[in-house]
Amino acid sequence: MSYVIVGSCVNDAVCTEVCPVNCIQPTPDARDFATAEMLYINPALCIDCHACAEACPVDAIYPAERLPPEWSAYREINAAFFKPEARS
Ligand code: SF4
Ligand code: SF4
Repeated sequence: MSYVIVGSCVNDAVCTEVCPVNCIQPTPDARDFATAEMLYINPALCIDCHACAEACPVDAIYPAERLPPEWSAYREINAAFFKPEARS
């Protein structure tokens, strides 16, 4: 399982400050942060601690198995950000 960020994310990076395993990218010090439409959670690293969902001011983070139907595509959108071909 993993948590998932959805399209209502406003890129304020609050969640990156609370994630204990740094699996939310891009962080503000990354070169692609300025052009990112939203942030993404690496499902291979997320430990389901819920800290990011608690901190998000716009409720844009959900457990993958409880994603609202309108955001269901974002499970794969988050995972795709961490696939090598998506970063080249
Ligand atoms: S805290 Fe919420 S709105 Fe802010 S970057 Fe994270 S997911 Fe997006
Ligand atoms: S649930 Fe915890 S480990 Fe997973 S992205 Fe959020 S803060 Fe990081």
